[in-house]
Amino acid sequence: MHEKRLGDVIDDFCVKCRRVTNHSIVSIIEQEAAKVRCRTCYHDHDYRHEQAPPSKKELKKAEAEAQALRDAENANGTQSAVTEAVPEVDVEIT
Ligand SMILES: [Zn+2]
Repeated sequence: MHEKRLGDVIDDFCVKCRRVTNHSIVSIIEQEAAKVRCRTCYHDHDYRHEQAPPSKKELKKAEAEAQALRDAENANGTQSAVTEAVPEVDVEIT
């Protein structure tokens, strides 16, 4: 296996450039690139294995979906939630 060295140029996704660009390795942990620097904008960041982070649009969509789910639960789940929440009735006859 080719050992990675500081200064090696590898591909990675740059959040500033919003695309895969050449990156120099600036930090190595256990033979793997830990931090890289974009050769286009010189932005340092953790090596992300060329994976684009979720975009703000995707995060917003996920948040909206989660909110919609909560709203739906609150709207039509109130009664069933109550009955589900109280499955046992303590009847203590002494
Ligand atoms: Zn960049």
